[in-house]
Amino acid sequence: MVEVIDVKSMAAKLKEELTQEVASLKDKGIVPKMVTIIVGDDAASKVYAQSKGKMAMKLGIDCELIELPASATQEEVEKTIIGFNNNTNVHGIMLELPLPAHIRREKIVELISPVKDVDGVNPLNKGYLLSGGAGLFPATPQSCMEILHLMGINLKGKEVVLVGCGETVGKPLSFLLLRENPTLTLCHEFTVDLSSHTKNADIVISAAGCAKLIKGDMLKQGAILIDVGINKCADGICGDVDFESVKEVAGALTPVPGGVGSLTTVLIFRNLLQGLKMQLEL
Ligand code: NAD
Repeated sequence: MVEVIDVKSMAAKLKEELTQEVASLKDKGIVPKMVTIIVGDDAASKVYAQSKGKMAMKLGIDCELIELPASATQEEVEKTIIGFNNNTNVHGIMLELPLPAHIRREKIVELISPVKDVDGVNPLNKGYLLSGGAGLFPATPQSCMEILHLMGINLKGKEVVLVGCGETVGKPLSFLLLRENPTLTLCHEFTVDLSSHTKNADIVISAAGCAKLIKGDMLKQGAILIDVGINKCADGICGDVDFESVKEVAGALTPVPGGVGSLTTVLIFRNLLQGLKMQLEL
């Protein structure tokens, strides 16, 4: 029977570590602070921002929500970012996406100071991701890596199939994976025969956003499944993995909900603390 990976416990342990780190920074008179910026009325962004606010409170981190109206101009959004870049009491800037259509997103993300860039959207951090350098990287791909590390999996030489190469998850994750030398196969919506690839995989990571895409007959016995997908389906929220179909074949899998997503928010704050250290060393 498949092992359901206990990601919530992994997240709880990391929370504890970060709480201690925040407490020792406060002892030195440093109060970590993040600002979350929302431009416009995107409902999902508001929910994500609220959940970051709650997590910050648990960790002892200051978190301020900045809401700009949908009518905000490019110049106003740029000024807001520059203001926080120059504010030494603010250590992290989280820009919720999407932005309204009239705002040039690339211009805005380029402006976020790379050491305050808690979700790794600045092109410099994206470059470090590619080159193997040290930077701040997007939280969801990091969450997948963290789960594999905490499971004690050595990726070297493993057959890993990554399904989905989107900008937010799949593409950055592929570069984090490559740092650890698996044989990596990237699949996407135009892959002709997905199961011919997944059948060879020791590890399948799905970030396709396609409900119940991964079935038992597409897998090798004992395969490990990391399910990043969050999809609406008849029984509520489900992942990209069809649990009922894979449960007799897979060795272990992350649940949805309560899987990859449970670590993501905590990792935003690990990025904040990492960026803060970079700022103090500047
Ligand atoms: P995206 O739309 O940018 O990319 C999707 C990728 O999947 C593309 O490469 C596409 O070609 C591929 N794909 C789509 N259908 C496919 C199919 N049938 N077979 C094979 N490949 C297919 O999506 P994204 O922003 O990268 O997000 C991917 C998923 O991850 C979504 O479900 C999203 O909700 C979820 N997500 C989860 C978290 C989390 O914290 N758990 C965070 C961000 C995104």
